[in-house]
Amino acid sequence: MAKRNAQPKIASPSKRKAGDRPRCGLCGKTGRLIKTDCCGNWICDDEHKYVLFSYARNSCHRNHSRYTLCAYHHNEGHAGDWKNCGECRNAFETEMYVWYGTNESNFEKLQNPPSYEPTKCSKCGLIIKLGTDGFTQSGDEYWCEECSAKEMEKRFRRTKG
Ligand SMILES: [Zn+2]
Ligand SMILES: [Zn+2]
Ligand SMILES: [Zn+2]
Ligand SMILES: [Zn+2]
Repeated sequence: MAKRNAQPKIASPSKRKAGDRPRCGLCGKTGRLIKTDCCGNWICDDEHKYVLFSYARNSCHRNHSRYTLCAYHHNEGHAGDWKNCGECRNAFETEMYVWYGTNESNFEKLQNPPSYEPTKCSKCGLIIKLGTDGFTQSGDEYWCEECSAKEMEKRFRRTKG
């Protein structure tokens, strides 16, 4: 039997270096990754790690899809680039617009975020960061966590008589 002249397969020279594995664009991990629908960036496929109702913000994928204008813009089907989208700009109060556009869950951040007056607690004047601080909104008022707690206690006492 004539032996076929089996050409040894020459491995095509790989241009990829070992360090070229796709990484999560947010935290840099190389584990299980998925591409975002909105912007096609690699991100940790970690939504399953999220514990329901824990309000933990430790999932890259969840954070990007919940807390960025990029994902909002995509989900709402707006045209063009989120960074100069008027619909996105009008959808949120300025502070939240800026936070959504500049927080650490963004691959690209707003270059020239509009300025805004900081939100202050209506009771004690403490500056409340709407994106990250706990607060209670009551009508036009914002209460910091401490004042909210005091207020809740007052109401609780009042209902008890
Ligand atoms: Zn995106
Ligand atoms: Zn990640
Ligand atoms: Zn938009
Ligand atoms: Zn307060």
